Amino acid sequence: MTGIPLPTVQRLIRVLMTLPGVGPRTAQRLAMHVLQLPPLEVQRLVEAIQEARMSVRSCAQCFSMTEDEVCAICRDPQRATGGLCVVEAPLNVWAIERTGAFRGHYHVLMGVLSPLHGVGPEQLKIRELMERLRSGQYQEVVLALNPTVEGEATCTYLAAQIRPLGVRITRLAAGLPMGADIEYVDELTLLRALQGRLDL
Ligand SMILES: [Zn+2]
Repeated sequence: MTGIPLPTVQRLIRVLMTLPGVGPRTAQRLAMHVLQLPPLEVQRLVEAIQEARMSVRSCAQCFSMTEDEVCAICRDPQRATGGLCVVEAPLNVWAIERTGAFRGHYHVLMGVLSPLHGVGPEQLKIRELMERLRSGQYQEVVLALNPTVEGEATCTYLAAQIRPLGVRITRLAAGLPMGADIEYVDELTLLRALQGRLDL
């Protein structure tokens, strides 16, 4: 594959290539880097990966990432009355947290509807979302999905499901560019989008 006649190195490169965004060239460069590290450094790298993977889990309530059974945001009693913000992924929770503009709970869908990729409502945390909303704890749900075609379609689907419950439904205001990822939007743009959220 790489012309490197060492089976252990070939295997390392193959494993590195399973990481997102890592092609053959990057994998080869990373492998060469690792092979020149002192053994103790390699051990630290391996341990950091293992420790993070073993410690981090899905929050039992919101499905964001946490090192506890339930995350710090879900445990915060002051946030229980602030509405429920629906996002695609844990990174989006932290992006919105950085704006300081939302003081409620979150619900991470773990993706968006994507029929082409075989992602239907059952593959997402939609059933769990509906259970949380039916509990009557939340007066408002903020749909904060990425402004992509799939995000928009998911918003429309969720709004139709939630509307019969009589919960106020809002979504992020325009200002977010189409095709953008909330994770990479600057804080001010995201803040404006949250402040100008619209009723659905
Ligand atoms: Zn949580």
